[in-house]
Amino acid sequence: MDPWQDIAKLSAQEHQALQNRKLHHFINRHLYPFSPQYQQLFQKHNIDPRSIKTVADLKRIPFVSKKDFIDPDNPRKNIEFVLQPDALKIKKHWPLPELLKLKALALLKGADAVKEKLGREYRPIFITFTTGTTEKPLSYLYTKYDIDNLYTSGSRMLNLFDIKSTEHIVNLFPFAPHLAFWQVVYGGLSSCALILSTGGGKVMGTDGNITAILKMRPSVILGVPSYVYHVLRQAKEENRDMSFVKKVVLGAARVTAPFKLRLAELLASMGAKDVSVFGTYGFTEARCAWAECPSENGTSSGYHLYTDKEIFEIIDPQTGEVQGEGEDGELVYTSIDSRGSSVIRYRTGDFVKGGITWAPCPNCKRTVPRISSDITRISDVKDVHISKVKGSLVNFSNFSLCLSEFKEIDEWQIELCKKDNDPYEVDELVVYITCKDNIDKTTLTSAVKNKLLVTTEVSPNHVRFIPIQEMVKRLELETANKEKRIIDKRPKV
Ligand SMILES: [Zn+2]
Repeated sequence: MDPWQDIAKLSAQEHQALQNRKLHHFINRHLYPFSPQYQQLFQKHNIDPRSIKTVADLKRIPFVSKKDFIDPDNPRKNIEFVLQPDALKIKKHWPLPELLKLKALALLKGADAVKEKLGREYRPIFITFTTGTTEKPLSYLYTKYDIDNLYTSGSRMLNLFDIKSTEHIVNLFPFAPHLAFWQVVYGGLSSCALILSTGGGKVMGTDGNITAILKMRPSVILGVPSYVYHVLRQAKEENRDMSFVKKVVLGAARVTAPFKLRLAELLASMGAKDVSVFGTYGFTEARCAWAECPSENGTSSGYHLYTDKEIFEIIDPQTGEVQGEGEDGELVYTSIDSRGSSVIRYRTGDFVKGGITWAPCPNCKRTVPRISSDITRISDVKDVHISKVKGSLVNFSNFSLCLSEFKEIDEWQIELCKKDNDPYEVDELVVYITCKDNIDKTTLTSAVKNKLLVTTEVSPNHVRFIPIQEMVKRLELETANKEKRIIDKRPKV
């Protein structure tokens, strides 16, 4: 039985006591004894695992990040993060009462029963991969224990969205070994709601997805923001009725307030009144996701955390100093209830404005801490999201924010290239736009140029208007797992 309803009512002190207790237990019973990576790290830095008793003690443990999973000389480096118990390690690290329990099981049901019990807890049975745009995908392993946790976080998310088991759900996330798709599948199953996972555009095509939605008449639609928007826009063009939709849940990408409002407007124009649009936050390394609760569209409650499953710290990305409540910084994740691939003090590379609040949620009154939903990726300066364009360092999430504010623009794409395709020439930035026919393109072009210059200090060289069919192909909306919003065609020299 999931204790979520009780956890959501604990006082701040009770949450912290729960986290302290679970952290100490997790490190001493599971992580230190069975994780080759962390045993080595603790020994190298002379950290006694028994001395880690509270969240405040975490700061004595060095951070890990994606780069710790990659070693050119060791292709199986990521396996060192997987908990790997054996009889010897168990004997050495587990307290006597736990060992006696295993002994009693062996006496009553045989040695195989012990093997089976430990196997169910620790044997990897499922894999998802990271979805980095530039890095090699990394695999994360789940045991049966972690799959149970995936069910738990899924049902907690549906509970936060206030989705009832009688509701129908259509899941448009792309079918792939990625967290988002499976989190939704398990969430649906654990809540006993009727859910159709179409596999997204690649599996069923946009026509197929629209047909499925019209047949299922779901009150809930889930998916990647750009693809959900694409499907609904096409449905609108076909004059479809979407009056049955009540909630839209978006994941695997940042969701801004203007985008939420826009999606709600689009649905309202197809008969769906008062639709709630939710954002979610999750990442492969946590093997779960977090949710907003219902709030007025255009606002966000923040993502509600699970204090029995993880600890989040906010740090200054430059100094590594832990920030106070409500302060901006990089999100650092510590698991306190996982098996399989397990991380503590994991630098997510995600920057959150507004940090974490411990104040009870003004909307749902749950007392769990919440992360602000204003999250952008900072992980890698080499990543296409932050890059030097025309000599200045540009954060591309600002482009996204800026262009999504233009109601006249249906879709956009940014292309970076070199003038005349000459690698030694200057950078060129081209904005491709799809808009409605009745829009004055000259006025829109100068408005876009001005706004981009003010927001990002970079002005596009060209603004080109293209038809929607060409845009869908350029963005790979129907074929890729993530749309190609920004393409960098500059040769790497
Ligand atoms: Zn809430």
